[in-house]
Amino acid sequence: MSDSSRKSVPVHLEFQSQVDSEHELSGFLCLRCESNLDINQPEAEVPERLLGVCGDCGSWYLIEIDPENESDIIVARIPDAQELRKAIESANAKPNSKSSKPNR
Ligand SMILES: [Zn+2]
Repeated sequence: MSDSSRKSVPVHLEFQSQVDSEHELSGFLCLRCESNLDINQPEAEVPERLLGVCGDCGSWYLIEIDPENESDIIVARIPDAQELRKAIESANAKPNSKSSKPNR
């Protein structure tokens, strides 16, 4: 991919910060359907950064555990393909609406 295809858009991020005194990694629930998440650790050297996948609705989650305080956990739902495309579309629909309009 060339650099011109690389862009950034704001997306709506749904998350939950929880204090889990038991620190049970199997206890994370999907924010959408409340099913248990399957927890994966993509990087062996980074045990405080996990990926959660809901087997029911297919949502993905980024789970961040504070290494200084393991009961401080953030569970953020990663936008799905539909949400990503919607965010990109709405960003493209109003490009620099407040600045100059070169096509007029
Ligand atoms: Zn779910």
